[in-house]
Amino acid sequence: MVGVAAWSVFRLPTPVVDRMIESDIRKQAQLWTRGITMHLEHLPEIFASGELDEHDIEFLMLMPSTSDAYRLKLLNAEGRVIWSTRGAELGTLTPDAPFFDVVARGGTHYSLVERPITEVDGSMPAAREGQQDDARCIAEVYTPVIVDGQFLGALKFYADVSERRQTFATRLQLVLAALSSFALLTMCATMLVIYRTNRARFAALQSRTATERSLMDEQLRLAREVRLLGELNEWLQSCRALEELFAMVSRFMEHILPDAEGSLYVYSNSRDVLDGSAGWNGGVFKDHIHPEACWGLRRGRSYEYGASEVDFVCDHAEPHDGRPYFCFPILAHGETVGLMHLRARAGAEADFSTSKRLAQMCAEQISMAIANVRMRDQLHDQSVRDPLTGLFNRRHLTETLRKQLLHCQTRGGRLSLIAVDVDHFKKFNDIHGHDAGDMVLRAVGAALEQACDRDEVACRIGGEEFMLVLPDCTPDDVMTRAELLRQSVEEVTVRYGEKTLPRVTISAGVAHYPRHGTMPQDLMRAADDALYEAKGMGRNQVRVAQSAGADQREPSEPKPAKTAAPPDDPPRAEGSFAAE
Ligand code: GH3
Ligand code: MG
Ligand code: MG
Repeated sequence: MVGVAAWSVFRLPTPVVDRMIESDIRKQAQLWTRGITMHLEHLPEIFASGELDEHDIEFLMLMPSTSDAYRLKLLNAEGRVIWSTRGAELGTLTPDAPFFDVVARGGTHYSLVERPITEVDGSMPAAREGQQDDARCIAEVYTPVIVDGQFLGALKFYADVSERRQTFATRLQLVLAALSSFALLTMCATMLVIYRTNRARFAALQSRTATERSLMDEQLRLAREVRLLGELNEWLQSCRALEELFAMVSRFMEHILPDAEGSLYVYSNSRDVLDGSAGWNGGVFKDHIHPEACWGLRRGRSYEYGASEVDFVCDHAEPHDGRPYFCFPILAHGETVGLMHLRARAGAEADFSTSKRLAQMCAEQISMAIANVRMRDQLHDQSVRDPLTGLFNRRHLTETLRKQLLHCQTRGGRLSLIAVDVDHFKKFNDIHGHDAGDMVLRAVGAALEQACDRDEVACRIGGEEFMLVLPDCTPDDVMTRAELLRQSVEEVTVRYGEKTLPRVTISAGVAHYPRHGTMPQDLMRAADDALYEAKGMGRNQVRVAQSAGADQREPSEPKPAKTAAPPDDPPRAEGSFAAE
């Protein structure tokens, strides 16, 4: 196929063939000329006279049969034919210009011409008859005859090179075809090698590009995770309450691990169960779970379901559909405070385990944040709680009152205060000792705390003095509640060592917003005044503050003597400490 193509391309390489033939014929002509000039004696005389002897003629006549030249003629320096294989030419003057221009100056002249076959001497008669119109390629060569630097004349040879030309052309065509085939094959092989090399390079480049792209994607993903973790940390650090923290965790986890459903559990105060606190990305959480229901909590380390050949499903993860999940115990200051549960979203199971490291980091951040909020809560608690009774202290009372009053002023509503003081407590301490007095104060505090519900607040404002804040109660209700409180304290019995301590009583003073004041200190003073009124009227009783208009006493006016018993002084409880 390739050879045929090359053959058709190089079918007629005539100029190249002609140059090869010219070179060949020129060399042969030189040989012929040398042979003739060596054979002929007295060359100058022959060319000058134009006469040859028999031997010379006989030799020359043999030329067509002993060489490729079918015709020969000798010309003298003037260009006149002095001998020829065609006798008719004798004495004729050559018309060829090259003879004079080239040959007479010592040069060899070569020409290739087409002649009818009939002009070719010695050709077969049959061929001549059958090929009348067939043209032959004839090489005609003039070679100069120069002796001692003198141009004597020239020899002209005629050679039929038709066959040789064909042979040369065929050989050349074959060589060219072979060469072109080889070149084509080499080219194809080279192209194949280049193609394969390039394909391999392209594949390598493609895989490198894919690797680089995946690396870049990975770096971008990591940078995003680090950024989100940083933001999560910053936000969590500024959380003031656990509820706020849970809301933030939900929002961030939706972005940080979008392919995981999550839920957060935190130990209840009783520490017997964990309360479901937050969920994200469709993560459903139960209200409470038992610590025993989680393999992560039981084993004290993160648990990955779906990573081992043998796995057990945590009870809290039921109903379970086989999707992989993580359980990360949340630790704060070495103590387990909760659990983060993450489950692969449907369709994202394959890459789920790769998110474990990030999920672990999230759990650690959440742990630290919960610890911070808890510690802040504890510190705040310590700053607003009374260590002896566990009730709120005066500071908290002031804050609460300010907030509640602001609320009443802006949105309306009721607010009442009950001031409480233990009766004759100095005497109690003196008789039974300070420690016994502390126990009684704790018991009174517990009774006060028990009397409060919802937004109601009981505070120990100092010594044996307490204050209750009751929002949204009618004055009658407050009076009833205060009386019930008095009765409940009266019934409290406290055991101290082997003995039961005598019961104590309390006196109480009630004040209402806005009737007895709109500012915290005014309301507290009004309740205090009512309390002292109760003291003055015999103790172990409840008194309501006098209305602003009815109160004739100036704030600086000395309080009535505690011992002064008013006419309606209620009877003291039987068996109480005050009655002793
Ligand atoms: P009144 O009925 O008029 O209130 O008489 P009172 O003795 O209770 O009142 P007073 O203010 O004279 O005495 C208050 C006593 O409370 C003095 C102190 O011994 C006692 N007290 C104050 N704080 C504590 C405390 O933290 N623990 C104990 N055990 N006693 C305290
Ligand atoms: Mg007292
Ligand atoms: Mg007192």
